[in-house]
Amino acid sequence: PPTARIEPEPPILRVEGLSKRFHPDFPPVVQNVSFTVEQGEVFALLGPSGCGKTTTLRLVAGFEQADQGQIWLDGQDITPKPPEERGIGFVFQDYALFPHLSVFQNVAFGLRHLRGKEREARVMEVLGLVGLTVFKDRKPGELSGGQQQRVALARAIAPGPKLILLDEPFSSLDAALRQSTRDEVRALLKQAGIGAILVTHDQEEALSFADRLAVMRSGQLEQTGTPEEVYHHPRTPFVAQFLGRTNLIPGEARGQEAETPLGRIMLVEEAQGAVLLSLRPEGLSLAAPLGHLGIDGKQIEGTVLAREFKGHDVTYRIQLGSRELIVQESPESPFYPGDKVRVLVRARAVVVGRGR
Ligand code: ATP
Repeated sequence: PPTARIEPEPPILRVEGLSKRFHPDFPPVVQNVSFTVEQGEVFALLGPSGCGKTTTLRLVAGFEQADQGQIWLDGQDITPKPPEERGIGFVFQDYALFPHLSVFQNVAFGLRHLRGKEREARVMEVLGLVGLTVFKDRKPGELSGGQQQRVALARAIAPGPKLILLDEPFSSLDAALRQSTRDEVRALLKQAGIGAILVTHDQEEALSFADRLAVMRSGQLEQTGTPEEVYHHPRTPFVAQFLGRTNLIPGEARGQEAETPLGRIMLVEEAQGAVLLSLRPEGLSLAAPLGHLGIDGKQIEGTVLAREFKGHDVTYRIQLGSRELIVQESPESPFYPGDKVRVLVRARAVVVGRGR
């Protein structure tokens, strides 16, 4: 008898070995980049300015042709197709709305294949989705930044794309509006079940917006994973430092532990020999020096260089031997510049490099 088998859904996007070089005297801007975006998944490309994020997005959209590599959308090879035949939506950093057209006309722009009534119904449906129905007759210039952002999103999703590309879409909004708009856009994408790629250089934005993210450096993807995975288990010093402040500490590993300038530290994974370790500031804490030496006849003592009070926490810079450490403590932590302190390690360290 035939057995029922549930086939896993193919990813909505599959990018395989993508490379792009603009100038023969310079290395490729995008080098052998591979990743997938699952159906309805929000994926972020995170990296410093100039690392090749936008070029990767433009290759996926079809605005640039790759030198090497292939792109599949929903199982179909779209590598040779022009942008308008790919069925991918795009939201630019500056929204690129038509200033002389109304909100309604802007959204209707991508729906030229639909006729009168049908077209009007779809525009109103999408405007309802982004909560802009009452503004349909206004010009973009008569809307706030956040509202313009939602018009751009409505225009991109109106034709019903399976995937939408967002290039730094929140960067021109002020801090307060950026957070709320980000939450709204994420909720909208989830509700509509549309997959998305967000390009950003803002680590907090990538961590909070994406289901999964890739950290990009010099044209290559250095690590891909969920926000928790890449934050807690960075595999390189670059990823550890790009995702937030951290302490990079050399050590000599023996299985689950390592000898370091901070004493013996527990490791997340086993290792042997020379290692470079990452310890987040929240994994360290401070205590007053003991009046006597510790059991093994020494204590790891440092000096407070600076104290930065930030309301929800205090961040210290500590001089420890020739090394500076960043330590994050609770807001009532009582140490000030010049104080002698003991540095305690409260978390396991992550191995981000091996060898010397
Ligand atoms: P940003 O966040 O600053 O936009 P990015 O990570 O998106 O950076 P890209 O815009 O992809 O980076 O650019 C990567 C590199 O490729 C840069 O050094 C850029 O100058 C170069 N580059 C991009 N487009 C072209 C082009 N059409 N011709 C030549 N060089 C280009």
